[in-house]
Amino acid sequence: MSAGVSTQQRQREMAAAVAAAAATSGAGRCRLSKIGASRRPPPARVRVAVRLRPFVDGTAGASDPPCVRGMDSCSLEIANWRNHQETLKYQFDAFYGERSTQQDIYAGSVQPILRHLLEGQNASVLAYGPTGAGKTHTMLGSPEQPGVIPRALMDLLQLTREEGAEGRPWALSVTMSYLEIYQEKVLDLLDATSGDLVIREDCRGNILIPGLTQKPITSFADFERHFLPASRNRTVGATRLNQRSSRSHAVLLVKVDQRERLAPFRQREGKLYLIDLAGSEDNRRTGNKGLRLKESGAINASLFVLGKVVDALNQGLPRVPYRDSKLTRLLQDSLGGSAHSILIANIAPERHFYLDTVSALNFAARTKEVINRPFTNESLQPHVLGPVKLSQKELLGPPEAKKARGPEEEEIGSAEPMAASASASQKLSPLQKLSSMDPAMLERLLSLDRLLASQGSQGAPLLSTPKRERMVLMKTVEEKDLEIERLKMKQKELEAKVLAQKAEDSKEKENHCPTILRPLLHRTVTVAKPLKKAVVMPLQLIQEQAASPNAEIHILKNKGRKRKVESLDAPEPEEKAEDCWELQISPELLAHGRQKILDLLNEGSARDLRSLQRIGPKKAQLIVGWRELHGPFSQVEDLERVEGITGKQMESFLKANILGLAAGQRCGPS
Ligand code: ADP
Ligand code: MG
Repeated sequence: MSAGVSTQQRQREMAAAVAAAAATSGAGRCRLSKIGASRRPPPARVRVAVRLRPFVDGTAGASDPPCVRGMDSCSLEIANWRNHQETLKYQFDAFYGERSTQQDIYAGSVQPILRHLLEGQNASVLAYGPTGAGKTHTMLGSPEQPGVIPRALMDLLQLTREEGAEGRPWALSVTMSYLEIYQEKVLDLLDATSGDLVIREDCRGNILIPGLTQKPITSFADFERHFLPASRNRTVGATRLNQRSSRSHAVLLVKVDQRERLAPFRQREGKLYLIDLAGSEDNRRTGNKGLRLKESGAINASLFVLGKVVDALNQGLPRVPYRDSKLTRLLQDSLGGSAHSILIANIAPERHFYLDTVSALNFAARTKEVINRPFTNESLQPHVLGPVKLSQKELLGPPEAKKARGPEEEEIGSAEPMAASASASQKLSPLQKLSSMDPAMLERLLSLDRLLASQGSQGAPLLSTPKRERMVLMKTVEEKDLEIERLKMKQKELEAKVLAQKAEDSKEKENHCPTILRPLLHRTVTVAKPLKKAVVMPLQLIQEQAASPNAEIHILKNKGRKRKVESLDAPEPEEKAEDCWELQISPELLAHGRQKILDLLNEGSARDLRSLQRIGPKKAQLIVGWRELHGPFSQVEDLERVEGITGKQMESFLKANILGLAAGQRCGPS
């Protein structure tokens, strides 16, 4: 980093940035003095930017088509894995595409908040995302492409030199600390010998870390002298995703102290946290085990809390769970409140990052909408995310598709023709690819081309093929449209046939087995029909039935708590089997038996209850407990309400006990 950052070009770039920042900082300071220290500014929302890195040579899947793409400076879309005909659209405060430079991100999202440090306010910049998605590149960068940290330090030091120069009202000094949070431990990277440090809060709500090294810095060279060796102290480990994957949150703290040179000698302190968060990837895919798994657990827990904090701040919830993790506790005074915070979610275009990308976007997203516009058709090969289905709009063909197209698509088609042209021409120019493209898609591009031409666009045509070949293609498109229409008609015919066949089948069934469709209540079937369940019946009863095999037998059924006369049916063999035992005893004996059981249930002790058939010690206890809670049983069937006693058990309980009584056995105290 040192070589690149100190180049002349870099200096010039910085000088311009510093000039711009200095201009804004003066205005900021005036405003602040008017506001006064006692009035806290309203809570600031956490701003969220997303940066999509380009494909990186050598990484797996670099030759795959991207699974995510930008739409404009604030939104992007990603294929929806649940439905290939949809894309998920996300909206952020800023979106930086794969061609964006380090300067774009810095100037667009970070530089504007630096001036607040000179107003005595705090700020934080957090790089979030899965390992390998570009967090360190964004924050630190390389000598050739310095990231947010060197750029911010350069600007801040320049700014403080100017603002704190002799003759100006305030004297300014800058210090730096560098720490990492590893497995919920706060470790000082400027002093490798220090152990886990504690985070405290003073009476004014400022967060402090007693014992944390603070190095004064006056120049960028000073900064590098401390920062570079400390970076090497960072805890890094190898995971399957990245050889030197960061397993800890690296936190660079830059403090700007201001002292007024004249009375009333006020003091101000502004803190800037620049944080390269640990990877947010899913543990299950990193092959992490043992210590690595423990590390991942701690990382995911603190990132989860960070998500909750951001949500709570942005939704204005009364409780923000800062204290739930070391990371958020540390950021308590620099995330929300009067602080200015930006979260940069880094994402990668490769398909194997897809799930982590979606989860990073969901973490960062405030708004998300699903739109029906097949992404796969436009930039994904069919095999990448499953088979490509044609959407309704595309099946309709060009004129109808245009009608069916939502306002959003209209806007994309017209508002960003140049951007669309630039990216599409890159991907779509080879003729071989066009010939394998979906005709409806092709037609849309052709109309876009025509539209561009009619608007006098000088850019390269979307489909950079000679006119004759285009004509051939358009003819193919027409033919394919016709073919689609033909297929649709055929499909409709087939569907109609299937429906007719179904209707016929059901009619036939009705004719063959009319009883099946008749309402249950009116069914009357004799007991002569075979039972599925074997029931042991007294000989006497079997003889009775044999004497009148076709007769309808009406039995007294005491199911459903209402005594009613009902005839039984063969399709309900189990019910009938259970009911048959009631035939063996007289109604008086049945009623007597039920009453006896009911008395025992209401008055018997747990021990008495055990004298009942099918009631063991556990059920006896449950019955006593239920009775204490709900009062006496009003009927024997209430037993079903006792936990653990099912309707089926109930039947066999009644049968066993009443038949036992009928056989002259005693059942409990009389
Ligand atoms: P992370 O810190 O999220 O694990 P890195 O910053 O180490 O990811 O990035 C992984 C690789 O991708 C590195 O080789 C890095 O140089 C490269 N890279 C990341 N972002 C970009 C970018 N915007 N442009 C070019 N290369 C990038
Ligand atoms: Mg990293």
